[in-house]
This record gives sequence, C-alpha cells and structure tokens, in this order.
Amino acid sequence: MLREQILFENFYQAVRSLESACKRVGRNPQEITLLAVTKYALDKDVLTLLQKGVLTDIGESRVQQAWARWKENADFAKFTQVKKHFIGHLQKNKIAKAAQLFDAVDSLDDFETARLLSKYLPAGKILTVLVQVKLTERETQSGLPLTQARALVKQLQGTFENIRVQGYMAVAPQGADEKTLRGLFKTLKQAFDEDFKQVPKAQLSLGMSEDFSVAVEEGSTLPRLGSLLFSRNLEEV
Ligand SMILES: *Cc1c(COP(=O)(O)O)cnc(C)c1O
Repeated sequence: MLREQILFENFYQAVRSLESACKRVGRNPQEITLLAVTKYALDKDVLTLLQKGVLTDIGESRVQQAWARWKENADFAKFTQVKKHFIGHLQKNKIAKAAQLFDAVDSLDDFETARLLSKYLPAGKILTVLVQVKLTERETQSGLPLTQARALVKQLQGTFENIRVQGYMAVAPQGADEKTLRGLFKTLKQAFDEDFKQVPKAQLSLGMSEDFSVAVEEGSTLPRLGSLLFSRNLEEV
C-alpha cells in the first residue's frame, strides 16, 4: 500500500474504534473530538491528512516544532480552521510564543503560566485551557494531584477575561491494568461532571493510542492519538 493509503486507513480505523467504544456504552460519537497528536509525525504525513480535510484538532508538545510548522511553513499555515492544542510541558520562556500560536493549552498545571498566557495573548484572542491532572504518585508524571487541580480550576474560573477553563486532561500511568485504569478515569470523570456542569463545551481529555477505547467508554470527549495514526504500519514505507 502507498503511504497515503496507510495514513487514511489508520485514521478511519481509529474513527471506527471510537464509534464502537461509543456504541458499547450508549454514547453519541458526535460528543467526541479526535485530537491528532503530531509531535512525532513527519510533516508530509500530517499534511496528507490535513489536505484530506479529516483533521479538526491537532496536538503538539513542542513549541518550537509547532511554530516552525504553523507559523513558518505556508503549507501548514493555510489550514487556519484547524484547532491547535498544546499538550506538553510549557516552559516559561516559551509562553509568549505559545500564546500567539495555540488555540488551546490542554496541559496547564500552574496559575503563573495562566497569568503569563493571559498577558501575552493577542488582543481579542480567547484561549481555552484544560488543567492537567496527575493520576499517579510517580514523580515523572506532569500535572497536579486531583485536589490541587480542582483548586486551580476554581482559582482560574472568571479570573482572566481571555482564558476559559474548559475541563481536565490526564495521561494514564504506564502499564496500568484495565481495572486500575477504569477506576482512575471514573474518579476524574466524576470530578469533571461536578466542576464543569455549568460550562458549555466542557472537555475531558483522556486516552491515547493504547487506552483510548477504555477512555471513551469512561467518558473522554477528547482522546489524543499519535502513534496509532502516524506510526502504525508506516515504518517500512
Ligand atoms: C505523545 C502524547 C500523546 C499521544 O500518544 P500516543 O501513545 O502516541 O497516541 C497523547 N497525549 C500526550 C500528552 C502526549 O504527550
């Protein structure tokens, strides 16, 4: 198969898996947005899917790489309708660029970053943010423990005119078995339902290539898929 065909096949297979997961639990697939994580993808592969018009939302975790694509490469820049999410660790010296480039920061975990984002946002621009929750005690995981994450949401709600707190994001601990995973997702979903009841278009971003089916069954609205779209079956072509 041609590389392009494999990319489409990967994409549609992901869509079908999302739909099956929805069906199993009686959810409407329309509630779900597929976030295509492009951090390890080749430019030409991302462009293949962009040109096909199937990507509505993309996730980048390096400001520099995203800037080179979306601000300096005319092939990317013309897809102005695609919503660009930042999903990585945001260093303080990259905040000004991030504020210009991204439509959403899904990995916020401190107030000061929010304050600086607000300060650097171009006039009239509104940034959507999700607070990243840490699901394990492991030091290496980013995000805040749930109690602190909920406190940050409260602190941010209504504080900055140009920042909208829309939900939670979390990365599952590596190697967790399905039962543990469901338990962690359920706990976060419950907090999400309580904290964002009144918020229109609230988002719960759970699930990556390995665990998105479980995440969607447990209520994720914004699964983040990288390797499943851009690596699967593509090493050889
Ligand atoms: C890289 C990354 C993903 C995508 O991971 P895959 O396993 O390749 O699907 C999702 N979320 C975050 C925060 C990431 O850094």
